Amino acid sequence: MLELPEVEVLRKDLEKEVVGKKVKDVTVETASIVKPFHRTRPDFVKALEGRKIENVRRRGKVIFVDLDEDLTWVIDAGSTGSLHRETANEKPGPDTHLAVSFTVGGAIHLSDTSSDPSASTGVVPTEEAFEAASVDPDALDPFEDNPTWPDFRHRLAEASRPLRSALTDPDVIVGIGDVYADEILWEAGLRHDRSSASLSTQEARRLYRAMMEVINLAMKAAGSSLDESEADVAVDDEGEVAEHLKVYGRDGLPCLRCRQPILRTRIKKAVYTYHCEQCMI
Ligand SMILES: [Zn+2]
Repeated sequence: MLELPEVEVLRKDLEKEVVGKKVKDVTVETASIVKPFHRTRPDFVKALEGRKIENVRRRGKVIFVDLDEDLTWVIDAGSTGSLHRETANEKPGPDTHLAVSFTVGGAIHLSDTSSDPSASTGVVPTEEAFEAASVDPDALDPFEDNPTWPDFRHRLAEASRPLRSALTDPDVIVGIGDVYADEILWEAGLRHDRSSASLSTQEARRLYRAMMEVINLAMKAAGSSLDESEADVAVDDEGEVAEHLKVYGRDGLPCLRCRQPILRTRIKKAVYTYHCEQCMI
């Protein structure tokens, strides 16, 4: 369950530690994760091993590692996967689908406890990387693009759909998922089912400020502790909710603003929103 803040922290760590270094060993435990890009596992391993790392970029939740010869390694943890920094000698665990070590700077492991991982990874020509990763270059990345609040309001008005769905739609905004969408709406005091085209100037500014605050707070919480295994996800394997979250996963607990119990409401198949009926309007 990685979203923009955790992936950005990982990107920065990788940028600091592996740019200029080379990919050493590549282990693929689950063939399906390379299928969108390569015919076989050895094809992927051959494409990545020994490559020099030139740059590490991010768009939404996807990491793009630029390699020599105008190639880019795409890493998408999917909706349930997570990425961890490990030492170069760490053996892949039972839920590890991919382990890649570097000549210097340790290794990166992609893991997923779900039986049908939605993660994907591959090496593609740099100019085709966004398209290959199904990343819409026109969708707004709220951290990378540094939008103004009128830009943000305009995007939402154009999307014209329930607020929560607009915030989590990768064709509108990239990088925000179920966890931070609820946090942003709670912070702004706005209901998940309000139309994104109905916001007053004041509400749009409030939502914009809430989005920036939540992303920055989450980045601080993820810190540089990504090598401490559980620190990179908002909810760990035992279902324990990270301390910095104010509404997500807190159903039944009193709202931190108005003390009414937080509700968990199903909005579509397997998608729930955590919200307060009293102080989100
Ligand atoms: Zn409340």
